[in-house]
Amino acid sequence: MVRREVNPPADGWSLTLPAGLWADLSRHLFTDGAGHGAVILAEHVRGPRGPRLLGRRLILAGDGVDYVEGTTGHHALRAEFVRDAAVLARDEGLAYLAVHNHYGTTTVGFSIVDLSSHERGYPALRQITRQLVGAVVFTSQAAAGDLWLPDGTRTTLAEVVVPDNNVLRLQPRPAEPAARDPEYDRQSRLFGDRGQETLRQLHVAVVGLGGVGSVVVELLARLGVGHLVLIDADHAARTNLPRLIAARHDDVGRPKTSLAARNARQANPDVMLTLIQQEVQTPRARDALAYCDWIFLAADTDAARHWVNEAVHQHLIPATQIGVKIPVDADGTLGQIHAVTRPITPDGGCLWCNELIDATELAIDMLPDAERERARYVAGVPAPSVIALNTLAAAEAVNHFMLAVTNLHHDDTGQAAVLHRPRSRDRDLQNPRRNPLCPTCSRCRQRT
Ligand SMILES: [Zn+2]
Ligand SMILES: [Zn+2]
Repeated sequence: MVRREVNPPADGWSLTLPAGLWADLSRHLFTDGAGHGAVILAEHVRGPRGPRLLGRRLILAGDGVDYVEGTTGHHALRAEFVRDAAVLARDEGLAYLAVHNHYGTTTVGFSIVDLSSHERGYPALRQITRQLVGAVVFTSQAAAGDLWLPDGTRTTLAEVVVPDNNVLRLQPRPAEPAARDPEYDRQSRLFGDRGQETLRQLHVAVVGLGGVGSVVVELLARLGVGHLVLIDADHAARTNLPRLIAARHDDVGRPKTSLAARNARQANPDVMLTLIQQEVQTPRARDALAYCDWIFLAADTDAARHWVNEAVHQHLIPATQIGVKIPVDADGTLGQIHAVTRPITPDGGCLWCNELIDATELAIDMLPDAERERARYVAGVPAPSVIALNTLAAAEAVNHFMLAVTNLHHDDTGQAAVLHRPRSRDRDLQNPRRNPLCPTCSRCRQRT
């Protein structure tokens, strides 16, 4: 198999497209080698390396109907098609991006004809929409953009990101070769120097720093992930010690964020850390999630599941849920053990669709502390928890992340969860269920 060179994240404006939107657009643009057009309407948010545009609607231009040969012999979007899309952009407060394709593979740029048509059309279009307007030109492996901002300035698009089984980063030209860090020599032989550089530049959140999360932090830090956002409100208890990676017996009573931070710095002194010793539903934690490239969900409260699920669909940030279930009946009978690693992608079925969030439990989680205690007047029996089982799921999750961001998965697409059943010594894959009417994740699947 030929290695496809991965592009490390680029600073500046980016456009993120849900996998399904990208699949529809690719089918439209790249089937027959001819020129095709479309419009993407996008939401504007902030991100770790600059402003982000989030693809919310794809409007395909019909060949010969909406995308027609102009007077100069070049194809262009028909005026009425542009007007309708621009009115929709204005009404919904979304950026308007005209899209077309060029020949080529890993390099792409606008032609003189493209640029002069932008200069003729976009000042007026910007007046109509009062939003950002612009254009993106694609090949199947590259993208370039010309953005006209509402404040009258003009800038370029650094990259188009498609978070799927491989996280594609389409840029105007292949990234410069990265220098090899001798410490990571053995890893770079797998990831490539650009793959290792990608890991260094990523911002990754770990929600929950207990038996699963502490292992995830250890693995991410040793891999050389450059920025970690560590979120947990708890302190280490004596019963946590057998499962907290690198914890010492005098750590009882210390915040789990401090223990994870100490361990991450020991693995990689250069790691940048953001520590949030709060629950994930607090505004500061939710804000921090929006500035990440990937989220590991290693907490099992309904609030944590809900807010990570929200971040995935509101900000188009991929996440992985990791959990170990050891069911014990009231009479002590042990059921099947499951160690689950579940990708949550902007275009896949979400945690609500898969009945993994309980609305009543979520409501209780969201109460202030004192009221929450009262609502849970029946004290729960602690569930079993064991380091080796946690590590099985944590390692599966970090392997999936690492291969996705360095584009080493065989398939670019796919969102299946992996279920290990250690008592039966088997594992299988489970595709997410998808409710087409789900208000949370149907936002990522709008087609017009
Ligand atoms: Zn062109
Ligand atoms: Zn859903």
